[in-house]
Amino acid sequence: MQMPKAPAKLSTACLLLATYTVIVFHIPFFQHVFQHLEGGWNAVLIIVSAFLLMLGVDFIVYLLLLYLGRIVGKCVLSFTMMGNAVMLYFVNSYGVLITKSMMGNVLGTQYSEASSFFSWAFVAYILLAGVPPCIYLFVRRIDYGSLRRFLSTIGITILIIVATLCANMNNVLWIDKHSKELGSLIAPWSYIVNTIRHYNSQRKKNEKEILLPNGTIETESRDVCVLIIGESARRDHFHYYGYPRNTNPYTTADSLISLPAVAAATNTISAVKAMMQPQQDDKLYEILPNYLYRLGVEVLWRTSNWGEPPTHFPNYVKKSQLQEQYPNEEQKNYDGILLSGLEEEIRNCKKTKQFIVLHTYTNHGPSYSNNYPSAFEVFKPVCNTVEIAHAERGELLNAYDNSIVYTDYLIHTVINVLRAIPECRSCVLYMSDHGESLGENNLYMHGVPMVMAPKEQLEIPFLIWTNDQSIKVKQLAEVSQYSIYHSVLHFLGINSPVLKEGMSIFE
Ligand SMILES: [Zn+2]
Repeated sequence: MQMPKAPAKLSTACLLLATYTVIVFHIPFFQHVFQHLEGGWNAVLIIVSAFLLMLGVDFIVYLLLLYLGRIVGKCVLSFTMMGNAVMLYFVNSYGVLITKSMMGNVLGTQYSEASSFFSWAFVAYILLAGVPPCIYLFVRRIDYGSLRRFLSTIGITILIIVATLCANMNNVLWIDKHSKELGSLIAPWSYIVNTIRHYNSQRKKNEKEILLPNGTIETESRDVCVLIIGESARRDHFHYYGYPRNTNPYTTADSLISLPAVAAATNTISAVKAMMQPQQDDKLYEILPNYLYRLGVEVLWRTSNWGEPPTHFPNYVKKSQLQEQYPNEEQKNYDGILLSGLEEEIRNCKKTKQFIVLHTYTNHGPSYSNNYPSAFEVFKPVCNTVEIAHAERGELLNAYDNSIVYTDYLIHTVINVLRAIPECRSCVLYMSDHGESLGENNLYMHGVPMVMAPKEQLEIPFLIWTNDQSIKVKQLAEVSQYSIYHSVLHFLGINSPVLKEGMSIFE
């Protein structure tokens, strides 16, 4: 007589299912890791850690689902197993990465298109990879155990996860660099998270900005204001603010005025939003270029970056479009491309007022030395590795400072474009979105939450040039990013209830 098989312990069942998930559904993930490692013990550490982390996280989630959800948990888990099998089929067959836009494609696909993906291989993936764990889930009896055992298992697993994370502190930059590809290959999180992100960004895109009260153009002069948005440029590496190295050789003779500014955030999206808003607010007000365009100002936005709030004017131009338009531009792989044909854009403008935004990328890490042409390699030697935590600090600073020199060149070139059109009353405003850490307190790059953000990430440069001798720049001890809105309205002679002259940098 056969004895009925004893039920499996909950932790055993979850460990089995988590191991199955990590091994079967993550072959493309580990292939990607293997292809992008430089070898040595650190590579072993990364591979083992990736395995342990995924195993740990899946294990905890499965425990929670099954212990708290029982039959519902089994259904949810089976659903993700089938989803993982579908994902594995698409990743292996089409080499796709499961990103937000990919999920947008998938969710927007018509049935006729979807059926064209059908193949016997697809059925095989479902039957061989997706179905077995589902059968196990519903056939194998599970002993759920006590609450105490459940909690202590979770506690131990969290400890293992934290220890693994700590062991990888030095690999943060490697992980950061590959996070997009790797994240898109982690099942089931990639398709779940990216589905949520897709719907979130759809909602954001449709988010209505709060319209601001109407304003009127009061002056008749032909005015041009160019706003250059810097990327990760920290104030104390500009010669203007006392940096001993001359990182601003090109603008020396341009009589720039420098004001000390402070970033409203340490990430691009929030900081650029702050520069486009009249005041600090979580709500989305009509951003500066949209408002100006509605009032009859000619608006041009050129970008090699991303992250700005939704724009509502026709002349929004990406770097790739400029590269197509100006294929022979010497600096077409750098931010210099943003200046191509700029003079013609200004000369051909039919309106009296013009606002131009150049959203640059030049000082973005970790590969600072990739962001400027070799002629700008003033400080040598430079580090070329993306693992900047392991780089020689002097070489890291050299690369970063060279990127500041190139930024200075870009500002100078814009000023020269405006000088060539003396009939226009013009100004250039250069402000960075946020600063950058370069190893102080073992921090690199930016994005530290505001409550604990170091000054290197918050203190930003704000440089001003104008050919209008009658307008004076106030001597301010500190300027916020919201001052851009008011200063631009002020300079372009726009009368609006939004304009607070106290927040304008112009007297
Ligand atoms: Zn940024």
